[in-house]
Amino acid sequence: MVELVAERADRLRARIRELTDRPVTLVAVTKGHPPEIAAAALAAGCVDLGESYAQELVPKAAALADGDVAPRWHFIGRLQSNKVRALAGIVTLWHTIDRDSLAVEVARRSPGASVLVQLDLAGLPGRGGCDPAEVPALVGRCRELGLDVRGLMGVGAPGTPEDARPGFRLLDDLAGELGLDERSMGMSGDLEVAVEQGATLVRVGTALVGPRS
Ligand SMILES: *Cc1c(COP(=O)(O)O)cnc(C)c1O
Repeated sequence: MVELVAERADRLRARIRELTDRPVTLVAVTKGHPPEIAAAALAAGCVDLGESYAQELVPKAAALADGDVAPRWHFIGRLQSNKVRALAGIVTLWHTIDRDSLAVEVARRSPGASVLVQLDLAGLPGRGGCDPAEVPALVGRCRELGLDVRGLMGVGAPGTPEDARPGFRLLDDLAGELGLDERSMGMSGDLEVAVEQGATLVRVGTALVGPRS
């Protein structure tokens, strides 16, 4: 598995280099896979690991805590405030800050934490992310709370990869207007379009570690 993941990661990185000169961080998403797969991704050189569920991340982080290389854990899922406490001290970058109450809780449990503000790119309720019009105010609020706002995050609109492009463009424009460096956008299905539109972090699961059970 380590060889297979390493080979896929090499191919993905090569493809990204064909598309851009910018550095793009590959976040390996192992949600729905056991800790052994996360360990394989780490051994394959994927130091940035993404998880969507607190109840999965906490035991995985514990399982990987004693290795030679410390993973950087990215939390990429919908987040309930009551899960923040368990994740503080584990998460390196919180991708899914999409409301005031969540920002308050992250600032309380993990002062000065690095965060991304998530916006809804598809107008689909229930998938997380604030209305794009609310982004400037939420970024300002996070800063007031002492959080280190590194950038914006979004999930591409469903459909073909091209269907995701307008949303990615919007995210890139907004990040530029707000002077933010990081753009977390693009998954297995739409990562090329995301890189073309300025992604600095791509979150890749299936294309790296195979389908989830
Ligand atoms: C699961 C997930 C990913 C990875 O999805 P793949 O299609 O398997 O690459 C990326 N981002 C978010 C927010 C996810 O929930």
